[in-house]
Amino acid sequence: MTTAAPDLADIEIRDPATDEVVGRVRPAGAGQVDDAVGRAVAASSGWARTSPGDRAGLVKDAAAAVRGVAEELARLNETETGRPYDDGLGGVLAAAGTLEQYAELGPLHRGRSLQGDWSATDLMVPGPRGVVAAITPWNDPVAVAAGLIGAALVTGNTVVHKPSERCPHLGRRFADLVASFLPDGVLTVVDGAGPTGALLSAHAAVDVVAHVGSIAAGRAIAEAAAGTGAKVLLENGGNDPLIVDDGVDPVWAAGQAALGSYANGGQVCVSVERIYCHAGVADEFLAALAEEATRWVHRPSAEGEKALGPLVDRRQREHVHAHVAEALQAGATAHVGGAVPDGPGAFYPATVLSGLTPRMRIVREETFGPVAPVRVVDSFEQGLAEAADDPHGLAATVLTPDMAHAQEAWRALRVGTVKINAAFGGAPGGAAEPRGLSGSGFGYGPELLDEMTATKTVHIEPCPPRHDR
Ligand code: NAD
Repeated sequence: MTTAAPDLADIEIRDPATDEVVGRVRPAGAGQVDDAVGRAVAASSGWARTSPGDRAGLVKDAAAAVRGVAEELARLNETETGRPYDDGLGGVLAAAGTLEQYAELGPLHRGRSLQGDWSATDLMVPGPRGVVAAITPWNDPVAVAAGLIGAALVTGNTVVHKPSERCPHLGRRFADLVASFLPDGVLTVVDGAGPTGALLSAHAAVDVVAHVGSIAAGRAIAEAAAGTGAKVLLENGGNDPLIVDDGVDPVWAAGQAALGSYANGGQVCVSVERIYCHAGVADEFLAALAEEATRWVHRPSAEGEKALGPLVDRRQREHVHAHVAEALQAGATAHVGGAVPDGPGAFYPATVLSGLTPRMRIVREETFGPVAPVRVVDSFEQGLAEAADDPHGLAATVLTPDMAHAQEAWRALRVGTVKINAAFGGAPGGAAEPRGLSGSGFGYGPELLDEMTATKTVHIEPCPPRHDR
């Protein structure tokens, strides 16, 4: 077995609630990455020739096994990333559901026959692209990995998976379990952080690099893949606005804002990152939001309290607090929170800020923490204009009783997903294309099956009879 390159130091994982070391992994170096990709290449032809029904059957069996260990995976999720157990369990069950859905959809994914000459047959046939590198983050680790891996497998691709270095034991346990149902080499896991991911995304034998994660990593991956010709699928960070219009119930709006800002500690790709509140409801909204924020606590025990885990690690807490501290120094007000608590772990309180200016970093960049930064605006139009003036393009939420405003907003915002009158939600199977810095391509839904396949056009004419001369 090849060993890690000397510049790849062991990675230590700490429980972000206690700071205790809970594991170490040795990152894969060039030799191990090469080995994993080689196994995926070797398994490719056999897996591509396996019937879609048989492939789907194996993925379905794997989904059942994931359900069987859901509680174990949710506990591991909590230990490695601080995600509250119930949230983590929801993520694992969503992962099993996603594998099941792709197992159903895979055999139904089909091409077209075209209307050509009477004597000819013209087809457009989707086929596997080859080897998919699935590089995933820590914030919804099992569900995100299940989506990329499931869609890649049912369409006949083989996969090398690199889970996040912040939850490598969880990533390996999940992927090894799925792999145990598949022929050798069809799904391989490599441990490591950015440098290992970089080796994988620059590998000449990788055909698709599917990355869910930060904008910076996505950019680096796109550059690396430009050198190999691999297809790149990027589902990256966002800076999602929430617009609160005049005429809404401010207490309800505050509940939506809190949910959007604080769920999973604000570490959801579509967390609310900045709030534009109409002056007509701003005082009541801010008061209700401040009250709501105090209900998000580490260990909920009273009616109405909600779980706020620690951030994933102290590095993430420093990033979040740097945004908050900079805003406070520049004149913003903290209605609640805004200070790093004493004690162990990477905890950060649910925070409400106001008095922000459009150029502050907390308004311009993804904070990815439990912070609700509110800018009071004079009109819906001003809120919409400021919300739209941003290079990210993941999602946006609009709370309004005015359907003309809702229509105006969903058309104007250059994002993948717009939610009207709900911070989270959406019908099953919804998939969107992120815009701008937030990435490109469909990372979810039935459309991900299209991304994972290459469509070949086939034109067949009868061979003319041979003339004996
Ligand atoms: P990250 O990009 O740092 O890490 C994600 C994965 O990329 C990890 O496996 C990491 O090791 C790998 N990686 C890092 N640098 C790399 C490089 N240069 N080359 C190849 N691989 C590299 O992101 P993260 O901190 O784990 O996740 C949080 C981010 O993910 C947030 O920005 C969040 O918004 C985003 N996210 C987006 C979505 C979405 O659907 N758009 C979903 C979940 C998370």
